[in-house]
Amino acid sequence: EDKWDAAKIRAASAAHVGATWTPSNVLDDVPILVKGEGVFLHAADGRKFIDWTSQAVCTNLGYDVPPAVIEAVTRQLTELPHVYSGLGMVEPRARLAALLAELLPAPLTGLIFPSSGSEANEAAIRIARRFTGKHKILTQYRSYHGGSGASLAATGDFRRWYAEAGNSGFIKAINPTPLMFSWSEAGDAAETDGAHRALAALEEQILLEGPQTIAAVLLESIVGSGGTFIAPEAYMRGVRALCDKYGILYIADEVMVGFGRTGKMWGFQHYEGLVPDIVTSAKGLTAAYLPLSMVAMSAELHEFFRTRPVGWGSTYQAHPVALACAYECVKHLLKHDLVGNAARLEPVMRECTDHLVASHPSVRQGRVKGLFGCLDLQGVDGKYMQPLSGPPHAAVKPFRRALLDEGVYGLVRPPLLHSAPPLVIDEPTLRDGFARVDRALSVLD
Ligand code: PLP
Repeated sequence: EDKWDAAKIRAASAAHVGATWTPSNVLDDVPILVKGEGVFLHAADGRKFIDWTSQAVCTNLGYDVPPAVIEAVTRQLTELPHVYSGLGMVEPRARLAALLAELLPAPLTGLIFPSSGSEANEAAIRIARRFTGKHKILTQYRSYHGGSGASLAATGDFRRWYAEAGNSGFIKAINPTPLMFSWSEAGDAAETDGAHRALAALEEQILLEGPQTIAAVLLESIVGSGGTFIAPEAYMRGVRALCDKYGILYIADEVMVGFGRTGKMWGFQHYEGLVPDIVTSAKGLTAAYLPLSMVAMSAELHEFFRTRPVGWGSTYQAHPVALACAYECVKHLLKHDLVGNAARLEPVMRECTDHLVASHPSVRQGRVKGLFGCLDLQGVDGKYMQPLSGPPHAAVKPFRRALLDEGVYGLVRPPLLHSAPPLVIDEPTLRDGFARVDRALSVLD
C-alpha cells in the first residue's frame, strides 16, 4: 500500500469523512496525527503537541502503551478474538470483574462491561428501573451522561438543542455550584449553609415529583465536561441520605473521573462515607486504547439480576480483547501509583491555575481536583467566551489557533478550557503545559 500524503488525506476526508458533535468541515483544519509519545502527539507536518486534555479526558496512560497491555491484547487476538458475552466466559472477564470488585467499596460486587460510557449509563438506568419498578431518573442541569437515547435524555448540557431527547421520565435539578449559588467567597460556613439550602430544594423537588415514581438519582461525582464543578461534601452526602430516606438508588457516573483522574481512584471517595448503589465508568478503564466501559452494582442488585435479565445489551459488550487490555491498564495504574501522581500534582495544578486567574483578565476563575482542572474564560468585554445560549465569542477561533501554535492539543470548548493531561505526566512537563497555555491566553487579553 502506498503511503498517503497530507493532501490526499485531506481530500479524502473532505469528500468522505463525517463528524458527529461538530459540522464535518471542522475536520478540514485539524492536525493530521501520526504518532504518540509519552504525553505528546506528533503531526504529519512535524508539529508536536502536548496532550493537554488527554483528548476527551480518556488517554490517561499517555502514548507509551505498557508492554504488558500489548502482550495481553496480542495474546487474546491470537488465541480467541471474540466471544459473545451471553454465550461464553473468558478468563479476562472474570479476572477484571474480580479486580474491580476489590477496588470498589464492599457492596459493589457485580460487574457488567458495555463498550462506552453512554452505554454504561443506558445499562445503569435500565438496571435501576427494572429493580425498583419505578421510572423517573433525577439528574442535574449541568451534566453530561452520554449521546445515546436514555443517556442523552439524562444529560443536562445541550438540553436546548435536543427537543427530541424528551423529558419523559427524566427530571433535572440545579447543580449546587458556586456559579449557581453565591457562597464560594464566604468560606466553609457559607458553603455548608448553601449545601443545606440546595438539599432542601432537592428534597422539595423529590416530594413534588413523588418519591414513589423516582428510580434513581444519577450524578457525576465531579461534573466533568460541564466544567469541573465540585459539589460541597455536605451536599453529596445529603443526596445519598435523601436516596436512603425515599428508596431511590444512587448512581455515580464516574465515566470521566473514575480510575484516578481526581487524585482518588473514584470521584465519590472525595465525599467521605458516600457509597453508591451503582457506579458507571469507562475512559480510564482502558486509557482509551480500546473501547470498554463498566457498570458496578451492589451485591443486592447483582443477586436480583442473577435470575432476571437486565434486558439490555449489545454485540460487542465484554469484548475479550478490550477486557484483556483493561485488566493490564488497571494493573499498570496501580503498580505505578498514577492515582497518587494525580494527587501529588494537585498543588502544582492549583498554583498554575491561580497564576492564570491572577494574570489574565480573560480568565474569570478556575477549579482543580487532582489532574482535573478547568478555566472559565471571558472576553475583554467581560462576557463569557461562549454563553450557554447564543453564538460563540469572536475571540474563540483565534484562541484555538493560538493554542495549537503554542503546541497545546485538546478539547477546547470556550467558555471552558480543561487542564487534564494524561496521569503519567511529570511536574516539569505540567508546568511547561501551563506556560504554553499562559502564552496562548495573551491573544484574549
Ligand atoms: N458520562 C460522563 C461523565 C462523560 O464525561 C462521558 C463522556 O465524556 C460519558 C458519560 C459518555 O461516555 P462515552 O463518550 O464513552 O459514551
